[in-house]
Amino acid sequence: MLRLLAGQGPRSRAGVAAVTGLTRATVSSLVADLIDRGLVEEVGPESDQRVGRPATLLRLDGSKVVTIGLELEVGFTLLLANDLAGRTVYQRRRPLSRESTAFDDLVPIMAKEIRRAIDAVESDGRRVVGITVAVPGVTDAARGLVVRAPNLGWRDVPLRARLGELLERDLPIGLDNEANLGALAEYRAGAVAGTPHLVYLLAVNGVGAGIVIDGAMFRGASGAAGEVGHTTVQPRGLRCACGSSGCWETTIGLRALLYDAVPDLAAGLIRDRRLSPEAKVAPVVARAKANNPVAIKGLRKFGRWLGIGLANIVDSFNPQVIVLAGFLPEVAPWVMDEAMAAMRANSLAESGQCRVEMTTLGFTAGALGCTIHASERLFADPTLVPYV
Ligand SMILES: [Zn+2]
Repeated sequence: MLRLLAGQGPRSRAGVAAVTGLTRATVSSLVADLIDRGLVEEVGPESDQRVGRPATLLRLDGSKVVTIGLELEVGFTLLLANDLAGRTVYQRRRPLSRESTAFDDLVPIMAKEIRRAIDAVESDGRRVVGITVAVPGVTDAARGLVVRAPNLGWRDVPLRARLGELLERDLPIGLDNEANLGALAEYRAGAVAGTPHLVYLLAVNGVGAGIVIDGAMFRGASGAAGEVGHTTVQPRGLRCACGSSGCWETTIGLRALLYDAVPDLAAGLIRDRRLSPEAKVAPVVARAKANNPVAIKGLRKFGRWLGIGLANIVDSFNPQVIVLAGFLPEVAPWVMDEAMAAMRANSLAESGQCRVEMTTLGFTAGALGCTIHASERLFADPTLVPYV
């Protein structure tokens, strides 16, 4: 019923009954419950009612119920609080420039960011009813664990339990990989929303993909699907953060981009933890715009590696669209010709119908995916929202 009201706008009780096949009595009692939880409200009478007394319309009451998304990256956290109608009511980015990436150091900071957001949201008379956290790594959502996050150095850490302890609030906390959540945001709210076969490729420090197949997230047997950054493209290539060598990430991660395009600055930029990933990419873009020959040549090389990996994705999953995110849209003007040529040359013609698009959701896609993830849990089980 909630999904119906959210997706198709206001309806009368009779209208809901007709569409859902539920009886009028069942609809009335469910509506009463949803109103008591602050999820549905009654609005003015239906105007085009032809016969009898005008019926009261019901609509999703999206304004007072808020979900929080927190994206954890190497170097920053990004928090977004959206109401059920998708409007942002609070947003904050916090650099993690001095802190170590150790689990015991980062989780209290994450908890503090969430508490701060809850205070801000609730001082406006709204209620926070769910949280989802995005991490750059493999998660076990059922057990609330981060199984492996190579760029943070985390392995089998109980993120959900520890956050729950520190928050001291009985709120449902979800957990997923940042690329999966970016893919969810793209699938629900991006420029190619609703495309059933979609791959979202995220390059920040590491590289990962969120894979939507037939309209559903593809997670694999243990939730580790989409770790395309760790597929091998260059045996005996550079050492990767995961411990292996020649992973795709070593050719199109942030480190590779900097060494390819601004080799004289790369070591300093990588070491400087005060800089965000966007700030580290800025000199690459500046030199490319100035037609610096080293930068142009480096970006073409980067583009070829990007295309080779895209070809692997195209042949593995046959998506309709691959959406590029993270810093990839920033460097797209100088890498995409090479990338598309390499992708076409290295994939089967039968897979060649795949479009490659830049995300329009910016750097907040992961956090946006978190708020959507948390609100979808409520749509699946509205009893998670307490009575007003
Ligand atoms: Zn690797």
